[in-house]
Amino acid sequence: MGGNASGEESDNIDWDTEDELEIQNFPLSSCSTLTNPGGEAIVCAGEALENSPPQQKPVIDSDHSSSDYYENFLDEISDSDSWSEDEENTESLSDKEKTLLSLAKMGYTVEEASIAMDRCGPDASIDEITDFLCAAQMAKAADYLLPDDEPKPKRKFFERELWKRKKQRRYEKRMMSEDSETIRLPKPMIGFGVPMESSQTFHRTLPEAAMGPPYFYYENVALAPKGVWDTIKRFLYDVEPEFVDSKYFCAAARKRGYVHNLPIDNRFPLLPLPPLTIHEALPLTRKWWPSWDTRTKLNCLQTCIGSAKLTDRIRKALEDWDGEPPLRVQKYVLDECRKWNLVWVGRNKLAPLEADEVEMLLGFPRNHTRGGGISRTDRYKSLGNSFQIDTVAYHLSVLKDLYPGGINLLSLFSGIGGAEVSLHRLGIPLKTVVSVEISEVNRNIVRGWWEQTNQKGNLIDFTDVQQLDGDRIEQLIHSVGGFDLVIGGSPCNNLAGSNRHHRDGLEGKESALFYDYFRILDLVKCIMGRQQ
Ligand code: SAH
Repeated sequence: MGGNASGEESDNIDWDTEDELEIQNFPLSSCSTLTNPGGEAIVCAGEALENSPPQQKPVIDSDHSSSDYYENFLDEISDSDSWSEDEENTESLSDKEKTLLSLAKMGYTVEEASIAMDRCGPDASIDEITDFLCAAQMAKAADYLLPDDEPKPKRKFFERELWKRKKQRRYEKRMMSEDSETIRLPKPMIGFGVPMESSQTFHRTLPEAAMGPPYFYYENVALAPKGVWDTIKRFLYDVEPEFVDSKYFCAAARKRGYVHNLPIDNRFPLLPLPPLTIHEALPLTRKWWPSWDTRTKLNCLQTCIGSAKLTDRIRKALEDWDGEPPLRVQKYVLDECRKWNLVWVGRNKLAPLEADEVEMLLGFPRNHTRGGGISRTDRYKSLGNSFQIDTVAYHLSVLKDLYPGGINLLSLFSGIGGAEVSLHRLGIPLKTVVSVEISEVNRNIVRGWWEQTNQKGNLIDFTDVQQLDGDRIEQLIHSVGGFDLVIGGSPCNNLAGSNRHHRDGLEGKESALFYDYFRILDLVKCIMGRQQ
């Protein structure tokens, strides 16, 4: 697999060169479960409770300071197949010790965990304690980031952070108790079938209100907060979501829900079938893969990658053991590998996936997101949010016989064009594509692809779904002659992962754009319905 042009390395977040920030005053070294996936965990998880904690210099692992990191890390955990709770026996421990152990496993030192437990009181839940730790850490970071001549509002900042967190927690509790989740995620997550497991036959009857035209196809993360899929289903004409893990289509997991009114019979996969295991997809890694790394699939491909500092730390941890590290080191390394989708590229040498490799795993053409002024960070970000082509194409394949002359597509939240690429790879001609995407980088990628693939149709760009009002849609329908398919996956920023602090559910700023998907679809339906 080719590497990135080195010129792409220098802009935006430079994951590789940031130094660790040292925090001098407050004895807290990590920001809840989110920010400390680094080397400290090895000390905390393995030895913390037996030995008194080593006198560590408190640090923030600043290579993970991007907000994307939070999404990534948490989504990674919740999307992970192989993430498992420790199975050790903790029955003999007191409640306090259990809490301490849990916090240590999250990467806190025993010292900071103990302080936080004392401050929060004996009845505090683990969530409250991690809130405290996190708020303290943020106060610390704010303190550090301010210039020296600025007054340091540490205490006030800390109290405000803590208060915000408490408020958020109350809000979440209320939401949880009001929610009445009825949708359960299926196991195995194969929706209405996947190519390899075709022994089962599926039938469904669509509610009348859901029937086209147009066909519609909506996507979002499967592991959304409670109630989200119920709401999506309710708005989208009570159509049952189809939950599918892309690990049945490629070498990486990607658990997504799809609500659509497409037929489900006679689907076919894109050919050639993509490699289904890490070794098939990335054959060069095989040579270096240790037998104790039992992964055969990658976890969900995310918007950002593990840092050079992390892989260096792992290399150092492994070098001490000459090929066969003890179990606790293996566990640490494997946890990091799973969290960050690291692969073996040399002896004791792990690396994050190259953007080219992510592109390939997601089924995009090589260099789809490369060049034209797109930074490496933007590539990972756009790819991390995109459709997995083989999965989506499998669902859309039923359109091929229905539209031999091609289709008119309304593509909302087009991103890097997962929908367009899927239809093209299926050999379904794209007559007119109205594509709505707010990111200029992404619009350029789709435009570039459109030109490179010599499309005969017409690509019309819009920027913001919120500006697509009834008049505009009516105009478009008249000029295009109606849409055959309205497709889109609205942003999952407030839904993904187990990040309690940022998971506002569908009412979150970005995630609420789902309602624009519905609004636009419903307008198209009404206008086209009138025309029939
Ligand atoms: N399915 C797409 C990715 C969807 S991710 C793909 O295959 O690549 C959600 C996308 O919505 C992102 O690309 C984001 O830039 C875009 N977006 C966010 N807010 C938007 C808005 N108000 N209008 C249009 N697009 C928006």
